[in-house]
Amino acid sequence: MNDYFCPKCNAPIKISNHIILKAIPKSSNTLGSMVLFEPILGDFRVTTHKTCTMKDGMHIEFYCPICNANLSAEDEYLTHINMTDSDGDNYEIWFSEITGEHATYKIKAGKIADKYGEHSSKYTNHWGSFPTY
Ligand SMILES: [Zn+2]
Repeated sequence: MNDYFCPKCNAPIKISNHIILKAIPKSSNTLGSMVLFEPILGDFRVTTHKTCTMKDGMHIEFYCPICNANLSAEDEYLTHINMTDSDGDNYEIWFSEITGEHATYKIKAGKIADKYGEHSSKYTNHWGSFPTY
């Protein structure tokens, strides 16, 4: 099973069977809410509290629940966490910060090793050119 870590403080952020991050809508002054992600890449189900008001198309920034670091890329609508798979291989995982957008990237040595979701062609330029097969 994949395990996940904060890229800033290296704290484990997968508890039980979910990745947990703090989510704050961009340019809002709310405290945000906790969001649970599925640990299987390409499974875009998201679990939130019933009071969470995030709607499709919103730009959400994600924060480490331990060190509170903003995990957003500076120049793109992407959030970055780290993953260690069951073989012990380490990857960067990047995913879209736009609610309802399905785009996740598995990155090794600065290159796309795999990508997931029907919107995943949208951000591939972030890692330079990529063959479109
Ligand atoms: Zn952290």
